[in-house]
Amino acid sequence: MNQAELQKLVEEISLRYFHAPFKHEVKINNRMTTTGGRYFLKDHHIDINGHFLDKKYYADLVGIIKHELTHYHLHLAGRGYQHRNRDFKNLLAAVGGSRYTPDIGLRRRQNRNYIYECKNCHFQYPRVRKVNTKKYRCGKCGRRLTLIRKNK
Ligand SMILES: [Zn+2]
Ligand SMILES: [Zn+2]
Repeated sequence: MNQAELQKLVEEISLRYFHAPFKHEVKINNRMTTTGGRYFLKDHHIDINGHFLDKKYYADLVGIIKHELTHYHLHLAGRGYQHRNRDFKNLLAAVGGSRYTPDIGLRRRQNRNYIYECKNCHFQYPRVRKVNTKKYRCGKCGRRLTLIRKNK
């Protein structure tokens, strides 16, 4: 799928599910790793992670586009466009947008510089950045985490 086809798809999804036109630009971003898309408040354009333009991720792509269009339309309407807002949650659910970036293995390619482990249940937490172990506890058992590997 190229730029023009993606633009057309976003415009179609906007009309069909939001009953309002998408009048701005959608750009392909191949540097994105952990997110499927991003809406820009300043100029109202949308970035879509180029990895999702492959045919086999079509259903994921539609979910991502719906998610970004939910930000777009609520923001332009002056309503709650942030993830935590009730407006956002309601509209996202109504159009069937994705809540999270679908996992297609992009996360694993990212450098995980720090690996933390729970000394109680031994669950590991690879992280890109340093974590404040005084604040963040194990998500499974609630105990403290210990840094066991540092790659940089
Ligand atoms: Zn979002
Ligand atoms: Zn634990």
